[in-house]
Amino acid sequence: MNEKKNFETLAVRTQTETTQFSEHSVPLYLTSGFVFEDAEEMRASFAEEKQRDLYSRYSNPNVNEFVDKICLMEGAEAGFAFASGMAAIFSTFGALLSAGDHVVSCRSVFGATHGLFTKYFPKWNIQSSYFDVNDVENVEKLIQPNTKFIYAETPTNPGVDVLDLEVLSKIAKKHGILLIIDNCFATPYLQQPIKFGADLVIHSATKLIDGQGRVLGGITVGNKDLIREIYLFSRLTGPSLSAFNAWVLSKSLETLAVRADRQCDNALKLAEFLESHPKVKWVKYPFLKSHPQYEIAIKQMKLGGTIVAFEVEGGVDGGRNFFDNIKMCSLSANLGDTRTIVTHPASTTHAKVEPEVKLAVGITDGMVRCSLGLEHIDDIIADIKQALEA
Ligand SMILES: *Cc1c(COP(=O)(O)O)cnc(C)c1O
Repeated sequence: MNEKKNFETLAVRTQTETTQFSEHSVPLYLTSGFVFEDAEEMRASFAEEKQRDLYSRYSNPNVNEFVDKICLMEGAEAGFAFASGMAAIFSTFGALLSAGDHVVSCRSVFGATHGLFTKYFPKWNIQSSYFDVNDVENVEKLIQPNTKFIYAETPTNPGVDVLDLEVLSKIAKKHGILLIIDNCFATPYLQQPIKFGADLVIHSATKLIDGQGRVLGGITVGNKDLIREIYLFSRLTGPSLSAFNAWVLSKSLETLAVRADRQCDNALKLAEFLESHPKVKWVKYPFLKSHPQYEIAIKQMKLGGTIVAFEVEGGVDGGRNFFDNIKMCSLSANLGDTRTIVTHPASTTHAKVEPEVKLAVGITDGMVRCSLGLEHIDDIIADIKQALEA
């Protein structure tokens, strides 16, 4: 591994060592445990005097390869991989938080993360305060003596708002607290939050990292002392990524850059089309000049991402009519797939979110979240156009 190599090269050339079979493609290491030469090696390994795989709940060659790649892509010192994005988020919180702690988070977070803050944190006497996407300047006012970290996603789900990572990191540093970023929507190809001062970066690998809607996975990378805490917590609690899913995800990373390039290009073209359509009330895409945080987006992102949000005329009925007339795009809650997906956040991913919170994070009745896939853009636009006009 050479850290000076470019992203695309690291993605394909970071590999687990070749075995005696001289395979070109890394094999799948389906093994729960590993064997030792003798009693001394076993003792030294368990005492962590010797670095090696012991048991696949702790580490596995396929998982290590996936973690190494993401660390190189994010510019992180260390990482730990999980069975899902939520396992990564929950284990990161579980490892770092104690009863009596407080967290400051952006209000626009993934529905399940919001569920952790509101349903489970209070049970463990962990408090949280929310700030709005357009109120990053006032995050400071929410910080208390017991605040452990600032948490945010950018671009946000499903509103694709963009938060200024540099501003958040300055506030966190000033108060001696951590900045943790869920980088799922951007992927390490489009945005590396550590460069802007984040301490930890979390991904749901289920989305654009897998990119083909097959497996679940998650990862947390960043400062090595923090990752050590997360590792110790996770090797006891067991949310580890499976070798099979790690193998799939590591291969997926080989094509992330080319997939993301095309999917972002499709997203920009769809956003531009929607902007001029009379049945569309508004469109949000980070690389559209009309996006409220366009300047921040171009500062911290390589491309605008693969998600476009827009509001169909006619509220609930307009929205329903649009979804019922979609012919090719998939009606699904997933995102980051090769297949273009349209979602109705108000009735699906955010259905359990309280109405006032829904409004505060900009989820309106006719809002559509579109995750651009790899179909030809003309076919994607044609399907969305006919559904808007039906
Ligand atoms: C999907 C998602 C998650 C959760 O990931 P899973 O792999 O489904 O557990 C977390 N954050 C964001 C932004 C997501 O889109």
